[in-house]
Amino acid sequence: MCNLETEGTKYGCGHYQVTRKVRKIDCNSRYCTHSIRHSPDCGDCHCERYLGPDVKETITFTTPQYCPSCQYWFKGPGSQRVR
Ligand SMILES: [Zn+2]
Ligand SMILES: [Zn+2]
Ligand SMILES: [Zn+2]
Repeated sequence: MCNLETEGTKYGCGHYQVTRKVRKIDCNSRYCTHSIRHSPDCGDCHCERYLGPDVKETITFTTPQYCPSCQYWFKGPGSQRVR
């Protein structure tokens, strides 16, 4: 499972949203679809498809605003879902 080093925005709700992927730390596993060692023509591929947690998150921007998904639930259409 590969990991990413990312840059992103830290929101007031506590969420972090990636704006840029800085680099990928390759796990060098043949059984990981993100790895350079994984064969592009890996037949019936059941290999690892998920990336691991970010190894390094660099906050490039901090905002008191809620992230888009929290905005939706707290202030947008989601919050108006009464009754
Ligand atoms: Zn990997
Ligand atoms: Zn595969
Ligand atoms: Zn949020």
